[in-house]
Amino acid sequence: MSIWRDIKGTIEPFWVTLRNMFRPVVTIEYPEVRAEISPRYRGRLILTRDPDGQERCVACYLCSAACPVDCISMQATEGENGRRYAAWFRINFSRCIFCGLCTEACPTLAIQVTGDFELANRNPLETVWEKEELLVDHCGQEPGYNFYHHAGIGVAAARGCNPGEDKPVNVKDLLP
Ligand code: SF4
Ligand code: SF4
Repeated sequence: MSIWRDIKGTIEPFWVTLRNMFRPVVTIEYPEVRAEISPRYRGRLILTRDPDGQERCVACYLCSAACPVDCISMQATEGENGRRYAAWFRINFSRCIFCGLCTEACPTLAIQVTGDFELANRNPLETVWEKEELLVDHCGQEPGYNFYHHAGIGVAAARGCNPGEDKPVNVKDLLP
């Protein structure tokens, strides 16, 4: 009886190997072969611009307040037209856990995630990215959105003068 068990025990591993040799592979030869990233993947963060090229970030600090690991810092300042922006903006990617809460909190859709996951670095200081590296020249995932055409009215243009915006209502006209 034990001889059959020994033969079975010898043949079985070969059978498992043979069976798996013809299965489709599930691994890829990174970095020669690139992984297909889901559109909803949460990778490196960027700061985007409005369609008119202006910075979307108004340095409201909401993203840094929402960040559970405190890896966003910035300094707010104001332009001559009253438009706020970040004098400097910093993200420490060695602490970031890519939860996306900062993007949820952002009222201007300035901060957005990308599919870039290649952030490993031997020098931890090089994982701290400044505004110059974070700020991109496009709108990211929200191509048509212009925050100042909605909420920045009265600063970028007078009320009622923005695209798609109705003239302000005089409440006294509504009285009986
Ligand atoms: S993705 Fe999460 S951890 Fe990373 S900066 Fe945003 S809020 Fe912080
Ligand atoms: S990225 Fe968004 S949430 Fe963060 S400071 Fe700028 S506008 Fe506010």
